[in-house]
Amino acid sequence: MAGYFYRRCVKCGKKYIIDKHIRNCSCSAEGLLPFQYPEVNWDNYPDPKYKDSVWRFHEILPLRDLENAIELGIKKVPLIKCKNIAQAFGLTEVYVKMDSMQPTETFKDREAFMTFSRLKEMGYNELVGASTGDSGISHCRGAGISGMGLHMFVPNNARARWEELYNRLISSNGKVNYDCVQLHYSGVTFDEAIAAAYDFARKMDLPLEYWFYNQIRIEGMKTMGLEVLEDLGRIPDWYVQGLGSGTGIFSFWKGCMEVYGQSPNLGGIQPAGCAPMVLASRGLVDGTVGTRVVPVLDTYVLGIGIPKIFESYPHLCRIGVTFEDVFEGGKKTELKEFPRLLELFHADGIPHGKAGLESLAALAGVEKLAQKGLIGPEQTVVIGCTGRMRLDVPELEKELE
Ligand SMILES: [Zn+2]
Repeated sequence: MAGYFYRRCVKCGKKYIIDKHIRNCSCSAEGLLPFQYPEVNWDNYPDPKYKDSVWRFHEILPLRDLENAIELGIKKVPLIKCKNIAQAFGLTEVYVKMDSMQPTETFKDREAFMTFSRLKEMGYNELVGASTGDSGISHCRGAGISGMGLHMFVPNNARARWEELYNRLISSNGKVNYDCVQLHYSGVTFDEAIAAAYDFARKMDLPLEYWFYNQIRIEGMKTMGLEVLEDLGRIPDWYVQGLGSGTGIFSFWKGCMEVYGQSPNLGGIQPAGCAPMVLASRGLVDGTVGTRVVPVLDTYVLGIGIPKIFESYPHLCRIGVTFEDVFEGGKKTELKEFPRLLELFHADGIPHGKAGLESLAALAGVEKLAQKGLIGPEQTVVIGCTGRMRLDVPELEKELE
């Protein structure tokens, strides 16, 4: 039955049916509360009434009443079969899921449609966010279209890039009014902006929409995996993605578990110049959540460059993610490797400007996992192409033209 779901703590098993925005279980800060759907009508999945809209998956999305569904125009994007990449890596079947073709050119748009719909359903008409770019832009677009108020906290070290992306957003569709978005440039680093957003949300009693523990966002992101399953008609042997906070990988896993009751192998790829979870998985650094383990970042892949052990880490371990690093030698190696990897993408028809650096890291990760024999030659691999080419790498522009 559409609309029936609850949340259950992964630590103590406590069940939550309340319609309130909560981050974690009362038992502990690590008490993640994923959504559970005990009464799915699989005959109605996907629901043909919704055609290609992501709402066709509503049987396993957290909305009680579809009247509250906000349509942000999330598209069904291509799953491209990559013969050249497969051949180059000694594999048979490699696919790339093109989420860089979403409205704001990143897979973060999938988080926004679910977040705004569910928060609206719970009676909120305002929320707080913190971002350095992609995710924040997706949420600003969601606010503009839904008319809900959004307080977005942006750190000053990301201000130039933010302004460029934001100006592009507001000029992309003159019919959408962004007066409901209030930008707060706060602090220097992302951590400082988050702290300010947290205080503000608490003071104003508003939901803070941010990263891994927001399970509404995970559910929206899950639709990327559901589309892959729809196209393949089965789970792939591997899903590989650049690993920042891990929402993409976690949500892909969750979709597979819900539809097929089975998990693919999961590859989480970080650039060696900032690979805290890889180091922790090898026992080389302390894996305690919150510990900063990378003093200086040596990577251009900043979209996934989180220098500390992120709160998702224990949960990614729990679902069996294989952590791998690429571009050993840092920025120098990246500059050498990016053009070759990009060439591989282009040879398989992935358009110029539609494969971001995070996706290049994922591609390099597939190559490494295949070389190590972890991905077998007959196995099916899906790579998540999660976002646009970042614009703030001037050293690369010439190389990538
Ligand atoms: Zn609990």
